[in-house]
Amino acid sequence: MEFIPVFTYNDYVSAHIAMGRLEEDGIDCWLKDENTVTINAAWTQAVGGIKLMVAEDHVAKAVDILKEIDRQHKATITCPKCGSHNIELVSTPRKASNWVMVIFGFLFTSYAMPVDMANHCFDCGHEFPEAKAEEVVDKDQLDN
Ligand SMILES: [Zn+2]
Repeated sequence: MEFIPVFTYNDYVSAHIAMGRLEEDGIDCWLKDENTVTINAAWTQAVGGIKLMVAEDHVAKAVDILKEIDRQHKATITCPKCGSHNIELVSTPRKASNWVMVIFGFLFTSYAMPVDMANHCFDCGHEFPEAKAEEVVDKDQLDN
C-alpha cells in the first residue's frame, strides 16, 4: 500500500488531532518526521513540517475530512479588523532583532531559522498573531 503526504503540520498537536480524526473514519494514516519536529521546533521548517501520510486508497476521503476540519477551525478565527473568517495561518520569517541574531543566522545558515506564525486575513490583508503562541505576548511587552 502506497502512502501519500496529504497535509503538513508545523506543530505536533494539530497533526495528532487531524490523524485522530482520520482514524475515527477508518483511514489508514501515520505521521512522518514527527520526532524531528517534536525534539526541536526550529527544525520544523528544515524537514518541511510533520507530514500526514495517508494510504493511497483513502486520500480522497482524507482530503474531504481535512477540508472540513480546516473550515471548522477557520470559523473560530475572526479578523479583528474587518470581522472576516477568510483567515489563513502563514509563516513569516522572524526578523533578526539584534546583531547577535544576525551573526547566529550567518553562522548557522544550515539550520532553518525560527519562524513566526501569523493569521493573515485575505479580505483586508491584516495580519495578527496566532492566538495560542505565548511568545507573541512577550514580544508585545518588549515593544511597550
Ligand atoms: Zn480582515
